[in-house]
Amino acid sequence: WLDLEGKVAIVTGGASGIGLNISKELIKNGAKVVVADLNVEEGKQSDGSYFVKCNVTSKESVDQTVAKTVEIFGSVDILVNNAGVNLPRLLVDDKGEKPEYELSEKDFDFMVAVNQKGPYLFAQASAKEMLKQNKGVIINISSEAGQEGSAGQSCYSATKGAIIAFTRAWAKELGKHNIRVVAVAPGIIETTGLRTDAYNEALAYTRGVTVDGLATDYSKSIPLGREGKLTEIGDLVSYLASDRASYVTGTTLNISGGKSR
Ligand code: NAD
Repeated sequence: WLDLEGKVAIVTGGASGIGLNISKELIKNGAKVVVADLNVEEGKQSDGSYFVKCNVTSKESVDQTVAKTVEIFGSVDILVNNAGVNLPRLLVDDKGEKPEYELSEKDFDFMVAVNQKGPYLFAQASAKEMLKQNKGVIINISSEAGQEGSAGQSCYSATKGAIIAFTRAWAKELGKHNIRVVAVAPGIIETTGLRTDAYNEALAYTRGVTVDGLATDYSKSIPLGREGKLTEIGDLVSYLASDRASYVTGTTLNISGGKSR
C-alpha cells in the first residue's frame, strides 16, 4: 500500500497495455485517475476512473483534459506521460527490399509528435496546476531504447532519449516548487498493444531475423531470462508517484531485467 489516497493522477495512453496497468495500480493504491487516450469514450468508469478522449499532440486537447481533471477531481497531483508510438524503421533500407521500412519524414514527425511533443504539452499544463499547490510528480515513460539506442528504432530511441533529457531539465526547473520529475525506462515488456503483427514484421526486418526469431532474440538478451510483466511497471510507477519516493527526482529508472542499466 503506497498511500495515494486523495491524489489525482492523469495517465496518458491509459486505455491499454502499460498505461492501463499503471492506472489500475494507482487506483489500487488510492488515487483518483483520469485516463487520457485517443481510443476512449468520455465518461466515468466502474473503477472510479474517468476517461477523457484526448490527443496528446494537440495543445487544445491537452489543455481541455487538464481543465476537465481539475473540474472533476479538484487538482492534478500526478502526471504519467505514457502515451507512445513506435514504428520500427531503418535509417537506410540497406537491403533495398522494403522501402516502407526506411524512416520517412512522415513517420519521424508522427513519432516526435506523440512521444516528445505530447509529454511537453501535458507537463506544461499539469505543472501549472501543481504550482498552485506547491507539490506534484511528473513521471515520463521513456524506454531502454532511449538510454541505449535501438537498431531499427532510431527515431523512437531519439524521442525516448529526449524525454530523459526533459526529465533532468524539468526536475531542475521545478524542484523549488516541490515538483518531482522522474523517468522510467522499461526494457521488453510482455505483449502489449504496441507490439502488433505490423510492428513485429517491421522490427524483424530491421533486425535481420524472422518474426519467430524475435522472441529468442529477446530472452537471450535479458539476464532474468523473461519479459517484464505489466504489473512490474505499474508497481514502480506507483512507488515513484508516492511520498515514499520523496527524494527521487531528475533521474531515470531502468526496468529491464538487467538487459541494460
Ligand atoms: P500500447 O500501444 O499498448 O498503448 C499506448 C496507448 O497510447 C494506447 O491506448 C493508444 O490509444 C494511446 N495513444 C497513442 N497515441 C496517442 C495520442 N496521440 N494521444 C492519446 N493517446 C494515444 O503501448 P504500450 O506498449 O503499453 O506502451 C506504453 C508506453 O510504454 C509507450 O510510451 C512506450 O513507448 C513505452 N514502452 C513500452 C515498452 C513495451 O515493451 N511495450 C517498452 C518500453 C517502453
